[in-house]
Amino acid sequence: MSESTTRPGPDAVVVGAGVSGLTTAVCLAEAGLRVRVDTCLPVSKTSSVAAGAMWDPYLVEPLDRVLSWSAASLAEFRLLAGDPQTTGVRIRAGTHESRLPCVEPAWTALVDAEPCAIEDLRTGYVTGWWYRAPVIDMPDYLDYLLRRLALAGGWLQRRAYVSLAEALTEAPVVVNCSGAGARDLVPDHEVAPSRGRLVVVENPGITTFFCDDTPNAEELVYIFPHTDTVVLGGTSDFGVGELTEDPLSARAILQRCMAVEPLLRGAKVIGERMGLRPLRSQVRLGEERPGSGQRLLHNYGHGGAGVTLSWGCAREIERLVLGWG
Ligand SMILES: Cc1cc2nc3c(=O)[nH]c(=O)nc-3n(C[C@H](O)[C@H](O)[C@H](O)COP(=O)(O)OP(=O)(O)OC[C@H]3O[C@@H](n4cnc5c(N)ncnc54)[C@H](O)[C@@H]3O)c2cc1C
Repeated sequence: MSESTTRPGPDAVVVGAGVSGLTTAVCLAEAGLRVRVDTCLPVSKTSSVAAGAMWDPYLVEPLDRVLSWSAASLAEFRLLAGDPQTTGVRIRAGTHESRLPCVEPAWTALVDAEPCAIEDLRTGYVTGWWYRAPVIDMPDYLDYLLRRLALAGGWLQRRAYVSLAEALTEAPVVVNCSGAGARDLVPDHEVAPSRGRLVVVENPGITTFFCDDTPNAEELVYIFPHTDTVVLGGTSDFGVGELTEDPLSARAILQRCMAVEPLLRGAKVIGERMGLRPLRSQVRLGEERPGSGQRLLHNYGHGGAGVTLSWGCAREIERLVLGWG
């Protein structure tokens, strides 16, 4: 999509073309607004495209709002999973397991999780939950959101903003969905990046997902099967904002995942993905009034759960913009 010179100006500009920005833009455009998404990076270079991704409220606060946003997203993803070829969203069965005894997370109630029988746990794990949840192939899914936005009349342009004041000269409503970029753009020094890395391999026949949920574990281990590929995770480097290659780290991810899933031994590595989780003490979702009748809304700081919260947060922005909130 590119901006046409004859197109009338947008009613709303969304800053950011990751999963938060595109989902917000789809909601606003389908509600009847002329929406333009401005982004300094192409969609294929956002952190969102790097995500695994599973519906999993990980590394994000505050708990009560996170649960309600996650529930709203879960309902949308279940609908989208009705047409997986088009959307890249599939419902898969799998487990969250822990090497230490731990309390069942609150979100398991949303997916009717059941405790694993001891004999079903993987070697070295002492507790776990079995459930079905959305697994999202992010490159395909973001393409789907772009197509859906275009169908609703929305469009995208490459644009780097130095400040939100600049964006407010472009439309009466601006929604800031700049992820880790909010640290400089707002500026909001509460936002800190956490670099995440994962490895993509050819799928040797895995159909169920796995997440290591051991409290305070030093390393992440997760396995998300898509169709021909499996995404293996991962890392979480707090405070690190550089996206540098690290073959040793990638090999370590592979080895950790092979240790829990022997089917992965010998699986062909296709590539690596990296992105920045936008950490914040709490998601920032709300409106500020910068004056002169303009409206500035924020939707950022989703930590390790931007995909999981995307529809819930975008629908809340839609309600605020339309005056239903
Ligand atoms: C390895 C990894 C695995 C993950 N796995 C999962 C998972 O399984 N489930 C899950 O829910 N979440 C997962 N996450 C977290 C999730 O990816 C993030 O929470 C989510 O991508 C944040 O989306 P966003 O749209 O807010 O930000 P981003 O995707 O970072 O997008 C930000 C957008 O803002 C634009 N922007 C920033 N600054 C400016 C500026 N100044 N001017 C113009 N544009 C600007 C950028 O160009 C970009 O388009 C994972 C993250 C990583 C790194």
